[in-house]
Amino acid sequence: MDFELSQEQTMIYEYGASLAKTYDRAYWMEHAERRAFPEAMYKQIAADGFVGTIVPEAYGGAGLGMLEMNLFMEGLSNQGIPLLSLVIGATMSLGPIGVHGTEAQKQKYLPAACKGDIRFCFAITEPDAGTNTIRATTIAKPAANGRFKLNGRKTYITDGKESDYALVVTRTTPHTEVKRKTDGFTLFIVDTKAKGIEMHPIPVSVPVPEVQYQVFFDDVDLGPEDVLGEVGKGFDILFECLNPERILVGAISCGLGRFAMDKAVAYANERVVFNGPIGAYQALQHPLAKAKTEIELSSLMTRKAAWLFDQGLPCGAESNMAKYAAAEASIHAVDASLQCFGGNGFTKEYGIFDIYPLARLFRTAPLNSEMVLNYIGEHVMGLPRSY
Ligand SMILES: Cc1cc2nc3c(=O)[nH]c(=O)nc-3n(C[C@H](O)[C@H](O)[C@H](O)COP(=O)(O)OP(=O)(O)OC[C@H]3O[C@@H](n4cnc5c(N)ncnc54)[C@H](O)[C@@H]3O)c2cc1C
Repeated sequence: MDFELSQEQTMIYEYGASLAKTYDRAYWMEHAERRAFPEAMYKQIAADGFVGTIVPEAYGGAGLGMLEMNLFMEGLSNQGIPLLSLVIGATMSLGPIGVHGTEAQKQKYLPAACKGDIRFCFAITEPDAGTNTIRATTIAKPAANGRFKLNGRKTYITDGKESDYALVVTRTTPHTEVKRKTDGFTLFIVDTKAKGIEMHPIPVSVPVPEVQYQVFFDDVDLGPEDVLGEVGKGFDILFECLNPERILVGAISCGLGRFAMDKAVAYANERVVFNGPIGAYQALQHPLAKAKTEIELSSLMTRKAAWLFDQGLPCGAESNMAKYAAAEASIHAVDASLQCFGGNGFTKEYGIFDIYPLARLFRTAPLNSEMVLNYIGEHVMGLPRSY
């Protein structure tokens, strides 16, 4: 067993620290508050080769694995500058296109996406299905001419309008007409500017630079060239996207927790209100030390899950545990940090409370902690299903 990172992996992990010299937390927050995508930062990340981290070299990527993507995202998040679009676009969309796309699709989308010229969003959540994807009703009905008409609604689609393409999870057969509940799903690559698509922003109270949208599909014309993988077999591809999503959300959570704690440690070593720095009080020190322990444990699990994924080994248990533990650790870390800052923690100047909403989001999205625990209880431990 080898826990040491290679020279290249160390460089990838440290990339965030060097990027933050130009695009720091203040830059990120300024964009988050305006809900403006940080184009310059994204272009720089693309130019430095990180948008295409997991894309094969033949299509403009770096040809690396989920472990490297995980290190890259953790490194950005350590600086408080994570981008959700690197999870939903660069990983959950470019990853499956690289594996399941036709040659034409790979040529059309991957090199341009790696260069940062086009972006992808990922659309699965529906207002009436929510966590229960099986009940999705957005449908691409096959027509006699071999084409499809897409109708339905998606919600909370991050970076929807600003993206050029959406990887859309649809049904091609309604859930009432399939033998197995996971049958009848198809993934489509949809041009977000196509006729019949309308998007409305959802005012979300989490400061992130990406906007979330309600997306309406009204008879959107799609062709066989837009299908990713096989018609009716989309759920298998969807499944492959979910573990990477959990791993990277774990990585972001670990990084955000560290970012908050680094600030808290510096402050608690300086601030004196009675005798000596407040960092000496165990009532402040122990919650920080506990959170630090939880963060480092979760970070190890995200790396293990990523490594298993890269080996083609089952990683559902590890990915879910990593996501759950990292989300909790990050919430504890931000909370413990906030307490150190007293009133200052709630100011814009110190920027600690601002970290909380995103850290807290990851207990609920992309998959709520209850469903993660359901997975662990049922699939890892063999307990009966409750729902
Ligand atoms: C900022 C933000 C960005 C997002 N970006 C995207 C995106 O880019 N693409 C996309 O497709 N979606 C996106 N989402 C949607 C997100 O993935 C969903 O909100 C999330 O999966 C939860 O689904 P829901 O909101 O429908 O909750 P519901 O399914 O309504 O669940 C509500 C609550 O019920 C509980 N619950 C549900 N089922 C069970 C169960 N079986 N057992 C125990 N408890 C249960 C959980 O506590 C859950 O939080 C985003 C959401 C937000 C807020």
